[in-house]
Amino acid sequence: MRKNEIFKMKTKNKIVIIGGGVAAMMLAAELDSDLFDINIYEKGIGLGRKFLVAGKGGFNLTHSEPKETFIGRYEPSSFLKPFIEQFNNNDLRKWLENAGIPTMIGSSKKIYPVKGIKPVEVLNAIKGKLRDNNVKLHYNHEFIDISSSGKPVFKHGDLRTVITADIVVFALGGASWKVTGSDGKWIDILAKAGVETIGFEPSNCAFKVDWSESFLSKNEGKPLKNITTYKKGKTVKGELMITGFGLEGGAIYAMSGLLRKELNEKGKTDILIDLKPNLRSKEIENKFKILSGAKSITNILKQYIKLDKTKIDLIKNYTTKEEFKDIKKLSSVIKNLKVNISGIAEIDEAISTVGGISLNAVDQNMKIKSLPYHYAIGEMLNWDAPTGGYLLQASFSMGYSLASHLNQKFG
Ligand SMILES: Cc1cc2nc3c(=O)[nH]c(=O)nc-3n(C[C@H](O)[C@H](O)[C@H](O)COP(=O)(O)OP(=O)(O)OC[C@H]3O[C@@H](n4cnc5c(N)ncnc54)[C@H](O)[C@@H]3O)c2cc1C
Repeated sequence: MRKNEIFKMKTKNKIVIIGGGVAAMMLAAELDSDLFDINIYEKGIGLGRKFLVAGKGGFNLTHSEPKETFIGRYEPSSFLKPFIEQFNNNDLRKWLENAGIPTMIGSSKKIYPVKGIKPVEVLNAIKGKLRDNNVKLHYNHEFIDISSSGKPVFKHGDLRTVITADIVVFALGGASWKVTGSDGKWIDILAKAGVETIGFEPSNCAFKVDWSESFLSKNEGKPLKNITTYKKGKTVKGELMITGFGLEGGAIYAMSGLLRKELNEKGKTDILIDLKPNLRSKEIENKFKILSGAKSITNILKQYIKLDKTKIDLIKNYTTKEEFKDIKKLSSVIKNLKVNISGIAEIDEAISTVGGISLNAVDQNMKIKSLPYHYAIGEMLNWDAPTGGYLLQASFSMGYSLASHLNQKFG
C-alpha cells in the first residue's frame, strides 16, 4: 500500500447511518467514499423493506408536476423546499436511470419504473450503487440506546454493542407498517436523550364513516371514480374506495392533515365530495328541468348525468325522499355531498405517519441541535405529504442533501 493511500484511510471519518430505508440508501450512495468510512446499521436482514411494500401498491417513485406545485404539496413546505430544490423529481429520474432503472410518467402524472421492472429490481439497482461506493452493511443491529457521550448502542443477537462514530445519522423511518421494521420505537430513545419529539399520528390513511347497513351491503369495495374532494379551500381530484371502515384512496389521503386536526379538536369532521366535477350545478339543474316528468330522477342521474349505481346509492344515503325529488337540492348534493367522518385508521395501517422528531430540534442541514454529531433524515422528522411519489421523493432528497452537505463540510 502506498504512503498516500495509508494517509487517506487514516483520515476517513466514520459515519454510522442507522436504519436502511430509502433516505439512508441515498445518503450512503452519495457520500464521498474517499472522505468517509460509510456504514449502515439496520435491525432487519435486508434494506428497503418499506420501499418494497410501496412497490406492491402504486409504487409512485415521484411525481412529474412542476416545481412550485410540487413543493406546495409538503407540510411545512418551507422545510422541504431546499432539499427538493437541491434534488428534484427530474434529478431522481436521472439518478435512477444512471442506476439502470428507466422511469416513465403515467397518465396520472405520477412517475413509475418503466413497465416490466419489478420493485426488487429497483432496490437491487440502488444496492448496486451502495456496493460501488464501498458501503458496509451491518444487518441484525437494532438501535436501542444512546450512550452518555452520544454513541449509538445496538442489540446484535444477545450482544449489546456500543459503536464509535464521527458522525451518526438517524434514518429510522416513521411508525406505520411495523412489519417492515419501521416501528417508531426509537422515539423514546431520542426523547430520553433530550431531542424534542412529537407523538406519531397516522397520515395517508383511511377515515371512518358510519355507513348504513343497507348502503354498505350493496357498495362495500366499490370505487367512486372521477370525483373531487373539498375541505377548507383545499381541492383534490381523484378516486375513493368504499370500505367497511369508511373511505380510502388518494382523494381522502391527501386531506389527512385537515381531517386529523378537526378530529383531534372536535372528535368528528366531514368532507365534501363533488360527484360530477365536469358539470356545473346549473347545468345539472337544467338537465333535470328538461327531462323530469318524462323520466324518473334515478333514470336522469344514470343516463343523462352519467352517475354510476354507487354514486346514486350514496346520494340516496344522504338525502331524504323529499330532498331527492327537489331538483335544486339534488343538484347541489351532487356537487357538494357532505360525508361525516367519525374516526381515523389505526397507525399501523397508515401509509405514512406525522410526528417523530420536531422540526425545531434540527437545523437547516438536519443536524440535531441538542446532540453533538447527530443528524436525522426521512420520515422520522415531523413533515407530511400526500401519497403519489411525494413521500419517497422527500426521503431521497433529504438523503442526497445531507450527503452534499457532509461532502462539502469534510472535503
Ligand atoms: C403500503 C405503503 C405504500 C407506500 N407507497 C408509496 C408510494 O407509492 N410512493 C411514495 O412516495 N411513498 C410510498 N410509501 C411511503 C414510503 O415508503 C416511505 O415514506 C419511505 O419509505 C420512508 O423512507 P425512510 O427512509 O424515511 O424510512 P423507511 O423506509 O421506513 O426505513 C426505515 C428503516 O429503519 C429501520 N429501523 C427502524 N427502527 C430501527 C432500529 N431501532 N434499529 C435499526 N434499524 C431500525 C427499519 O427496519 C427500516 O428499514 C408507502 C408506504 C407504505 C406503508
